[in-house]
Amino acid sequence: MSIANTLSVPRPGADPEPREFTLPDLNAWDIEVEVTHCGLCASDLHLADGDFGDASVFPQVCGHEIVGTVRAIGSEMTGWRVGERVGIGWQKGACFKCEFCLKGEEQHCIDARLTCCSGEIGGFADIVRCDGRFAYAIPEAISSAEAAPLLCAGHTTYTALMRHARPGAKVGVLGIGGLGHLAVQFADKMGCEVTAISGSPAKADEAYAYGADSFLNFRDALQRAAAAFSLDFLLVTSPRVEDWDAVFDLMRPHGIVGVAGMTEPATVNIVAMMERTLTLTTVNAGSRNDMRDMLAFCARNGVRPTIETLPMNELPKAFERLRSGEVRYRAVLTT
Ligand SMILES: [Zn+2]
Ligand SMILES: [Zn+2]
Repeated sequence: MSIANTLSVPRPGADPEPREFTLPDLNAWDIEVEVTHCGLCASDLHLADGDFGDASVFPQVCGHEIVGTVRAIGSEMTGWRVGERVGIGWQKGACFKCEFCLKGEEQHCIDARLTCCSGEIGGFADIVRCDGRFAYAIPEAISSAEAAPLLCAGHTTYTALMRHARPGAKVGVLGIGGLGHLAVQFADKMGCEVTAISGSPAKADEAYAYGADSFLNFRDALQRAAAAFSLDFLLVTSPRVEDWDAVFDLMRPHGIVGVAGMTEPATVNIVAMMERTLTLTTVNAGSRNDMRDMLAFCARNGVRPTIETLPMNELPKAFERLRSGEVRYRAVLTT
């Protein structure tokens, strides 16, 4: 039995506040991790606000970009030592028996256990538990604070680019924020020609520093017209897309638009897509293999998030900063 000291959201839309949870005996395959760092993702706000329906259970403990050290190990679990540094992302368990688990796509497991959904205690806590097979060793070259955002934002964007982009491909990243600034770095290091796209021209200098080859101000119709027919793959990380036709206009024939931002329900012009046989797809966190590959890729190629760190007890302030768009790329809470 353990006690978890958490920062929990008591009801939809409320600020997180301290709350203790008594945890039962450790499951055979679980490990218990002492949290040192946890990143704050837009999905956490959606869970805190109850936007994902049954996924939230109040009091809701968010946090799924977790880094910490192993504190206890279940009776069946092998491969970890107490004191070892580990990371945990969006998913913390799976059945390991279903069709998708058996082909290495545990992210599609029908019984997937998500890190801070359905009453699971997430990373805004002093301890957290996960199936030890869903914990990841963090390469030495990556600091714990920088590792945290890689575990969701990095995992998602890397997986999308590995699936849809090739070296030399013309890749666009729409939205240069928590996900987008990592996507630009990944695409650049994968050998793609990268266009950073944002409605904020002030982001241009930073986008170039992250490795973009060009910058497109999405609010500028002339710049958009000049960029028509220019992209093979576009990763949409922005939470809001006002004009899907303008998005499709950027694409080359057979282009793929992958949406990672949790945009509002949208109506799209299918005929406009047909003219260029475009594909519209969605992007989510990848598999365990994608996670391990992504961490190794970051260690080797110098891909790192830009972060601001706050002490864990300032989580309400971090929520506020994320809601008002003030966070510079990614907030990481430290214990
Ligand atoms: Zn996330
Ligand atoms: Zn499964």
